[in-house]
Amino acid sequence: MNKCIFLDRDGVLNRERGDYTYKKEDFELIQGVVEAVKKIKENGFIIIVITNQAGISRGRYDRQDMEACHEYLQKKCGGIFDAIYYCPYHPSITTSIARKPDTLMFEKAIAKFNVDVNKSWMVGDKERDIIPANKLGIKTVLIDDKEPETIADFTSISLYKAVQDVIL
Ligand SMILES: [Mg+2]
Repeated sequence: MNKCIFLDRDGVLNRERGDYTYKKEDFELIQGVVEAVKKIKENGFIIIVITNQAGISRGRYDRQDMEACHEYLQKKCGGIFDAIYYCPYHPSITTSIARKPDTLMFEKAIAKFNVDVNKSWMVGDKERDIIPANKLGIKTVLIDDKEPETIADFTSISLYKAVQDVIL
């Protein structure tokens, strides 16, 4: 079985802009991310990104825009991500149990990549990233620079710090 680090995208890998990020020009990697994902891989984890992309069903951008951002992300990080799962749906248009805080994207990844949840982690910046992982028995780190109320096992200020201080 594989141990896996699941990662949310916006606010963990790239700067959260407070709006949908679907253009390469706006896709700004957070400091330390390239080093962090490299360290994760060197320690024998696979890495899977789990991202809500409701802007697609809301017509703000299309799958090609998103794919271009993900290609850019992979390129910047040396193709390190084993998979990127996304949910294009929004509850105002189509309900889906894939969308976080539901668990389907995680369950698909766990089945496909034979993931051992007991040795795996989820790092996200919103409670809706933490909830599904918590349900599935995956350990969790919430990225937040304040001291939020959270069900996460740990909090940290960045992916880099989470990897250094909590996960490895
Ligand atoms: Mg996020």
